[in-house]
Amino acid sequence: MPLPSHARVVIAGGGIVGTSLAYHLAKLGWSDTVLLEQGSLSGGTTWHAAGLVGQLRSSSNLTQLIRYSADLYSRLEAETGQATGWKRCGSISVARTRERMVQLQRNAALARSFGIEAEVISAKQAGERYPLMRTDDLVGAVWIPGDGKANPADVTQALARGARAGGAQIHEGVAVTSVRIERGRVVGVDTSEGSIATEIFVNCAGMWARELGRMSGVTVPLHACEHMYIVTNPIDGVAPDLPVMRDGDGHIYFKEEVAGILMGGFDPWAKPWGMDGIPAGFRFGTLPEDWAKFEPLMRHAIERVPALESAPVRLLMNGPESFTPDNYFILGEAPEVRRYYVGAGFCSGGIAAAGGAGRALAEWIVGDGAPMDLWQADIRRFAPFHGNPEFLRERVSEIVGVHYFVAFPNRELESGRGIRRSPLYERLRARRACFGSKMGWERANWFAPPGVAPETEYSFGRQNWFPYAAAEHRACREAVALFDQSSFSIFHLEGPQAEAILQRLCANDVAVAPGRVVYTAMLNIRGGFESDLTVTRLAADAFLVVTGSAQTTRDAHWIRSHIPEGARATLTDVTGAHAVLGLMGPRSRELLARLTRADLSSAAFPFATSQEIWLGRARTRASRITYVGELGWELYVPAEFAAGVYDALEDAGRDLGLADAGYYALESLRVEKGYRAWGRELTADDTPLEAGLGFAVRFDKAAPFIGRDALLAQRGKPLARRLVNFVLDDPQALPLGDEPIWHGGRIVGSTSSAAYGHSLGRAVAMGYVKRPEGIDATFLEGARFEIEIGGDRVGARGSLRPPYDPDGLKIKC
Ligand SMILES: Cc1cc2nc3c(=O)[nH]c(=O)nc-3n(C[C@H](O)[C@H](O)[C@H](O)COP(=O)(O)OP(=O)(O)OC[C@H]3O[C@@H](n4cnc5c(N)ncnc54)[C@H](O)[C@@H]3O)c2cc1C
Repeated sequence: MPLPSHARVVIAGGGIVGTSLAYHLAKLGWSDTVLLEQGSLSGGTTWHAAGLVGQLRSSSNLTQLIRYSADLYSRLEAETGQATGWKRCGSISVARTRERMVQLQRNAALARSFGIEAEVISAKQAGERYPLMRTDDLVGAVWIPGDGKANPADVTQALARGARAGGAQIHEGVAVTSVRIERGRVVGVDTSEGSIATEIFVNCAGMWARELGRMSGVTVPLHACEHMYIVTNPIDGVAPDLPVMRDGDGHIYFKEEVAGILMGGFDPWAKPWGMDGIPAGFRFGTLPEDWAKFEPLMRHAIERVPALESAPVRLLMNGPESFTPDNYFILGEAPEVRRYYVGAGFCSGGIAAAGGAGRALAEWIVGDGAPMDLWQADIRRFAPFHGNPEFLRERVSEIVGVHYFVAFPNRELESGRGIRRSPLYERLRARRACFGSKMGWERANWFAPPGVAPETEYSFGRQNWFPYAAAEHRACREAVALFDQSSFSIFHLEGPQAEAILQRLCANDVAVAPGRVVYTAMLNIRGGFESDLTVTRLAADAFLVVTGSAQTTRDAHWIRSHIPEGARATLTDVTGAHAVLGLMGPRSRELLARLTRADLSSAAFPFATSQEIWLGRARTRASRITYVGELGWELYVPAEFAAGVYDALEDAGRDLGLADAGYYALESLRVEKGYRAWGRELTADDTPLEAGLGFAVRFDKAAPFIGRDALLAQRGKPLARRLVNFVLDDPQALPLGDEPIWHGGRIVGSTSSAAYGHSLGRAVAMGYVKRPEGIDATFLEGARFEIEIGGDRVGARGSLRPPYDPDGLKIKC
């Protein structure tokens, strides 16, 4: 069949992801879709996948995507007549160590809070379900009966058949050679067989996606790595319903394959592949066997399943798969080009994810916006630097092993570090900062006193930094603390139409006098948070927009895509131009007054205002706001003046008890004060009314804002889902976030953030609670909650008000 001259959507890539997208577009009634595959369907990475479908992921929405995949694969054969090899065989994850067991228990609890059946079982019970397994060295296991396996190539064919039945055209042996772009939008594609005019292009090109994106200026940060498994001849006792088994401490997994065992592994330091690009003509390709690399995994596997020692190995499969810098896949509209979408980088989970990811991407395209909170997979979590080939190569060799790391809280990656550094980095290092990484920034997490190594020792209990972060926390509450917050994303929006654009984007009223700081949300049409930010009016036609470190690309994209063509307003990212110093605490005024003649009294410098002041010898923007709940100023210092200002503050603050403080103290301070964090309490699925931020919504402002109608529909009705602040009864308990919240014998939510509240002497947490009858202060007053931490339930009090300084007296003094 010849290529059509026009199509509504063109998809590049006929792996499981591209075919799933075509299938789901057809299901949504979009039949005018053309899928182009340079080779044959499934001939990229899909054909040699092991086919495990494990449902649990770290967020509810990603888990729901995979649950949907499992459901889809179970019924595709009936729908299309093409077998998929789907088998609901269940999965067992085993623990060789106590730490691993804690993680498995936490995973099981999380699974249950997402509605997945998961049972903590003993080593003996694990052995009964998997008789070939050695169990005498195991601490325990978790059984998930709904997990399964499928045949990846067959699922791809079934999806393709379903897509064709819905009207999609699939052309094999046709490569997309370039994407035509005009005025920042897709207008067509050129292929090896001619051109197709289209307004929507989707890059589902697997490990080729980075190069295909680069040709259009689109950053798709992924890199191929070698991934290996063996398949044995039949072994006695191996039947098709043998569960999938994962032994994370050995970095290995097992699956039945034609009465033998398929055993694969995630090497702690894997081998990147395709450094100079994917070789031309790589179709149904495999890589040379590397027994030396596989040998440690094989040893672990024989320890677990002794029968492997004598079983003839029929095949060592070494196949390339693409991995991303953070081990999550990449989905959504590229921020660089309108209507250019990406679905790639599936990090060895593409078979499990493809059903749900294909559906979500189809809904994203049809609805011209993400259908739900998919931030973990959203392409806008990356910035151009993530596409750097050297960074990617280094990072992915570590990321492969992350699959089976023990997921300790605060675990930091070791590779690809030091990419972005604040002007204060060397000073903070000299003060013994222990750094973590966010969006490429090195940020001080905590400061080690002399004699203590600034290195975090990982565990599920109180980690080694606990007393030092506690001291930083107290310094902030009782004296004054200095936080380097230079990783904030900072933008200028300037031009005669800047106000009108922001009024439409922001739920709060930003048409304020110059010098006012407004805390506001940017909402989607469902009323959910696209971002939360502060907007400072600098002049009639100029605004300073400050958002979180992780949101630079996302927020810039959201704002730019809402600047109408021809409008007189320009958004400029000025993040790197400033250092941001948070000077916070009851003595911050006294300290600042030693370095400036500006009147810092509340009358002259009230809360939520901003002024340019002389600070020492630097012209500095000082904004009286806080993320810790104390009197304080955020100081926006031009980068070249930052070191001088820091030194001046340190000198002037010594006798006032000034302490350097890091992000761990910031976290305990903000959770204690009930301040929400974007991405945790505030996601695209949460509205300001549910989040308790109705005070930052101005329904009555002259210009309606995006999301207003959705909020109006919710306003005045009992809220069946609300964010609640918790204080735990047991002063020793240490929740970490993502724990189930129990009430009345049922799970009613899970914690979104948790920390030790050093001012309260016990742990604090936040989390959304669901209750069909509605949640209000009266209900909460009498309610008894429990937070489930590693299998134990700890009593907690819930309130809509923050546990620390509920009346906000501290910040306004
Ligand atoms: C050894 C191994 C075991 C695995 N086991 C599992 C598992 O058990 N469970 C699981 O969930 N996942 C597993 N995976 C991962 C899974 O295979 C992948 O995540 C998934 O197949 C990715 O699908 P895809 O459609 O994104 O990519 P691909 O299957 O690679 O499809 C991309 C397609 O795009 C085509 N293409 C590229 N460029 C162009 C162009 N310019 N024009 C047209 N077409 C183009 C390619 O030819 C290719 O067919 C495993 C992977 C490996 C390597």
